[in-house]
Amino acid sequence: MTTLVVTGAGGRMGREVLSVAADRGLAVAGAVNRSAVDDPVAGVAVSEPETLPELLADVDGRPVVVDFTAPAATTTYAETAADHDAAFLTGTTGLSETDRETLTRAGDRVPVLWASNFSRGVAALRRAVAAAVRAVPGYDVEVTETHHNGKRDAPSGTAETLVSEVEAARPGLEERTHGREGVAPRSPTEVGVHARRAGDVSGEHEVLLAGDDNVLELTHRAGSRRVFAAGAVDAAVWLADRDPGVYAFDDVLDDRTESAEATTSDPVSDTQ
Ligand code: NAD
Repeated sequence: MTTLVVTGAGGRMGREVLSVAADRGLAVAGAVNRSAVDDPVAGVAVSEPETLPELLADVDGRPVVVDFTAPAATTTYAETAADHDAAFLTGTTGLSETDRETLTRAGDRVPVLWASNFSRGVAALRRAVAAAVRAVPGYDVEVTETHHNGKRDAPSGTAETLVSEVEAARPGLEERTHGREGVAPRSPTEVGVHARRAGDVSGEHEVLLAGDDNVLELTHRAGSRRVFAAGAVDAAVWLADRDPGVYAFDDVLDDRTESAEATTSDPVSDTQ
């Protein structure tokens, strides 16, 4: 059975991950958080980050570290995981090129998986966006995301991923225009990117494609953070026995889609 160790356990996503793990009866060897968390989360005591090495060393077999924190913490935890032969899964966004290189180096030693979004619905949106952009050459493309007022990075990692899909599907789109102000005529080579922050919105992403008299909108709305936690836990179980390397959420989905085709059931549970 997969054993998880959760970092950022006092954060919004860390708490959801522990809750999903408890609902599924998964083993959790421990959890850490930068600031003290007095009460157990979903029955798991949360200790300080310095205890991570000993938590990992105490697990029989290979644990999976599930990390939703911030870039500085993610890179440190990835190195700690690799030092202790633990698989490392992270959903932290706002990673720099250097941060990604640190994950790649960890992937030389242990299985590593990073995804800007662990929702199966967003995975479907990404594929639909690539197909739509190819189907309507010349249409203007604008990506808008909305998140809760506590989100730190902007635009969201998912919006960045969606823009990358758009750029890959339509060579020649080479400018990302983040918001507009004043005299700002649109150029045909730009993709507009807009970030809204309000309330407790878990995450919304809309891709607008517009031509003359034709408007196509593709939208995903996450009803709660549990969507992401469920996908991350599915991916963590999948990751535990992999060879060292850097994996994507698509690797998990493609693998499960194949095996689930015969049953027609949803291969990854991203509902509550
Ligand atoms: P949050 O602010 O609620 O929690 C962040 C956690 O990280 C806290 O526990 C905090 O103590 C810890 N942390 C922050 N900086 C740290 C540091 N330097 N050292 C150690 N610990 C540190 O945030 P959240 O909403 O849980 O989101 C966390 C991350 O996950 C963000 O990057 C967010 O964008 C991302 N996220 C990803 C997905 C996905 O599906 N991939 C979904 C939701 C959120």
